Amino acid sequence: MSQVNLEPNNAKIGRRSFLKMAALSGVAGSGVMLNSANVTRKADDVELSNPYPKSKKVKTICTACSVGCGIIAEVEDGIWVRQEVAVDHPISLGGHCCKGADMIDMVRSAVRLKYPMVKENGRWKRITYSEALDKIAAQLKVYREENPEQVMFLGSAKMCNEQAYYIRKFAGMYGTNNIDHQARI
Ligand code: SF4
Repeated sequence: MSQVNLEPNNAKIGRRSFLKMAALSGVAGSGVMLNSANVTRKADDVELSNPYPKSKKVKTICTACSVGCGIIAEVEDGIWVRQEVAVDHPISLGGHCCKGADMIDMVRSAVRLKYPMVKENGRWKRITYSEALDKIAAQLKVYREENPEQVMFLGSAKMCNEQAYYIRKFAGMYGTNNIDHQARI
């Protein structure tokens, strides 16, 4: 495995300049801290009031990977309105990676893909899952007959061991070794 050499000479910066830069960045860092101290303030009454008085807290899990960290979803009238950490969750103990910490925004995103779509004559059209599966299966058949090596299978960090095993088997039976589990945690 290659290693990154952080020695100043390696980057064509003299040791003296390197130390000066380090000192300057320390000063800049203190400036940022001072500035943030100036902009922090107490929350006002509106900010402290509860905008969702009828919301219910629902225990759920983050689905962005197969770790399954806990999330408390605050739900009002069927809409996920606010996210809390699940400190009593046995696996994550209230912790999240950046994906799980922002799960509510992914779920409520205006650009979230909620159903299968197909592009026809330059326009996106909603189709059913059955139609989508039929189209994918038909195209996979064509590619397999032409040359299975032109297909690559990508897994997902959401996959557990067993699912990853299945997709590996499927790729092998399809006729290619082009596969990646795609877990990057
Ligand atoms: S590790 Fe991150 S992505 Fe995976 S379940 Fe936990 S919060 Fe979600």
